Amino acid sequence: MKHNQGLVIVLSGFSGAGKGTIMKHLLDRYPGSYHLSISATTRPMRTGERDGREYFFKSREEFDRMIADGEFLEYATFNGNSYGTPKTYVEQLTAEGKDVILEIEVQGALQVRQIFPEALLLFVTPPSADELKRRLVGRGTESAEVIAQRLAISAKESVLMPKYDYLIINDVLDEAVAEVHRIIQSEHYATGRNAKAIADMQEQLKQFV
Ligand code: ADP
Ligand code: 5GP
Repeated sequence: MKHNQGLVIVLSGFSGAGKGTIMKHLLDRYPGSYHLSISATTRPMRTGERDGREYFFKSREEFDRMIADGEFLEYATFNGNSYGTPKTYVEQLTAEGKDVILEIEVQGALQVRQIFPEALLLFVTPPSADELKRRLVGRGTESAEVIAQRLAISAKESVLMPKYDYLIINDVLDEAVAEVHRIIQSEHYATGRNAKAIADMQEQLKQFV
């Protein structure tokens, strides 16, 4: 039995660690269990991406207008581009008791922790730094220059890894997907997330005292 309300789950990790791949498999393998928040970004669309699927692609002016109108839960700059989580989707779905996953970078993750202290923070890493580089190069979506920039950002981001609740080492993809699922499902059973069930039971037991 799943006892309590929806979780806000943050999935962060180095660019090229496999976050997007894990998310895609998680949504396919456990249909209806998770809801992915789609971010807005000013970065150019990659080949194969579609507006409204991977991201809502925005001009700088549109993004700034969304900031001014308070439409973001959090936003941050990553390698010169802006990325932000639209507020309404996350608020609506968590109110409906659904688990929402935000695939965002570290500055945004820490903002989310301030707003929702009970958010579950997961960090994805490949098994080694060399493998990270291989995956970024293998993906073939960025120039050598941008890949070098993203690897340098990874070194800085790694300092914040201990701030996360769980570390996912994405070596064998299927195992990493199963681990993410297991961790999220277990989290629903944490006593701290079941205060109402505990209080109800305590109240009912008073009749026997
Ligand atoms: P991110 O979203 O974290 O930037 P991606 O999901 O785009 O990363 O993955 C980066 C590259 O690594 C992609 O080409 C993807 O197919 C590959 N990849 C992801 N997970 C694994 C894995 N477990 N083993 C090998 N390659 C992987
Ligand atoms: P990419 O350009 O590879 O799609 O994403 C670059 C980085 O931005 C990744 O670490 C990704 O998780 C992060 N990101 C994507 N959307 C958001 C968002 O809405 N907010 C924040 N803070 N980071 C995001």
